[in-house]
Amino acid sequence: MDFDLTKEEEAFRDDLRGFLDEHLPPPEERAPDFLPKWWKAVREKRLIGFAWPKQVTGGGGSLMEQFILKEELLARKAPMLGRDVTGLSWVGPALIQFGTDEQKQKYIPEILDGKTMWCTGYSEPDVGSDLASLQCRAERDGDEYVVNGSKIWISLAHFATGIYNLVRTDPNPPTKYDGISCLLIPMDTPGIEVVPIKNMSMTGMAEIFNQVFFKDVRVPVERRLGDEGEGWAIICSALQNERSSITEVMRHSQRLESLYELARHSRVNGRPALEDAGVRRKLASIETQIEALRLGGMRALSRQLRGLDHQSQASLGKLHNCNLLVECADFALELEGSANQYMAGSEAAVDDGRWQVDGLAWPVTVVGGGTPNIQKNIIAERILGLPKD
Ligand SMILES: Cc1cc2nc3c(=O)[nH]c(=O)nc-3n(C[C@H](O)[C@H](O)[C@H](O)COP(=O)(O)OP(=O)(O)OC[C@H]3O[C@@H](n4cnc5c(N)ncnc54)[C@H](O)[C@@H]3O)c2cc1C
Repeated sequence: MDFDLTKEEEAFRDDLRGFLDEHLPPPEERAPDFLPKWWKAVREKRLIGFAWPKQVTGGGGSLMEQFILKEELLARKAPMLGRDVTGLSWVGPALIQFGTDEQKQKYIPEILDGKTMWCTGYSEPDVGSDLASLQCRAERDGDEYVVNGSKIWISLAHFATGIYNLVRTDPNPPTKYDGISCLLIPMDTPGIEVVPIKNMSMTGMAEIFNQVFFKDVRVPVERRLGDEGEGWAIICSALQNERSSITEVMRHSQRLESLYELARHSRVNGRPALEDAGVRRKLASIETQIEALRLGGMRALSRQLRGLDHQSQASLGKLHNCNLLVECADFALELEGSANQYMAGSEAAVDDGRWQVDGLAWPVTVVGGGTPNIQKNIIAERILGLPKD
């Protein structure tokens, strides 16, 4: 792997740094009206959807430039580049890969302009890891599909403008992977009901989930993404995007800095925790794992740049990433000692209760996008060549 930047890439990075100097103050200096100004500036500079084609108003950037962009943004603790997280992370990429020209022209600029908020309809009451067993039905009736069934654990459905929904269009397919299609359904279509599910996390996560019911929901055929029955291929591609976008080395590095700070101010056996051999070993182990995650990400990028298969690498990254997240949170809570009982808002909370949030919010990273067991199955079968589960 050679990750030295070319002259053009260095010029791109320097131009980007100049732009960020002008438009991105450090977090503590960001005014209340900072976010809309930031989104306007990054949209004008075509940094939102930076690697998406220029024809659909994306940035037309290369993969390597996108990597540089991501590193520079994370190093400066930049906020998200746009508002529609799901649209930017996997609905947009799926549209670019499988959508018709009309669909791309209609949906992609809306995602980039932050006019939409997509949610993802995969899981069902009896269907999670074994996603291909999904039962939500879509029957063809002239130029429309009629959708019946329900989806569960749908993040952000209560804010969403549209649902990227997997349905069964063939009730008797040759295999469970056949006969699945993907529909892009506006949330205000008659027959859709969104029922929030409260969870116990006591963080912002408590408001995240919903069950979505479909009763005779009529969806025009032109809202189908890809061919009828091609849904499984679309979903495999989208899930890789979901898994790889979850992997963020720089955020772990920032987390590690905070752990060092916490160890400086915590005490073990009456002495600063940072002087304790066990604590130092743990910090070194986390640092080593972050470096391994970074190198793994670079290997995946290098394979992608050379046009080689990199898809299964996303599962490695996701697994490694979620293990680190949980390990850092557990370690921080251990360092806090009995103060780890206090959440944000309490005077006794350490670091404003941020580690309690990490300690409770792990399901987003660990379970969302496929559980660790499922990632291990993918790694075993596709990277190690072991027999199928
Ligand atoms: C924060 C969060 C956000 C989510 N957002 C969404 C969303 O927006 N849209 C959506 O559609 N879904 C969403 N989900 C649902 C998520 O995708 C599923 O929870 C996940 O895929 C697991 O499915 P399940 O809950 O049915 O568990 P199950 O599939 O029933 O799994 C239960 C346990 O069995 C294990 N297991 C299952 N199959 C195997 C196997 N073959 N080999 C080994 N072990 C196995 C699993 O690892 C797990 O430990 C979200 C979940 C969370 C936690």
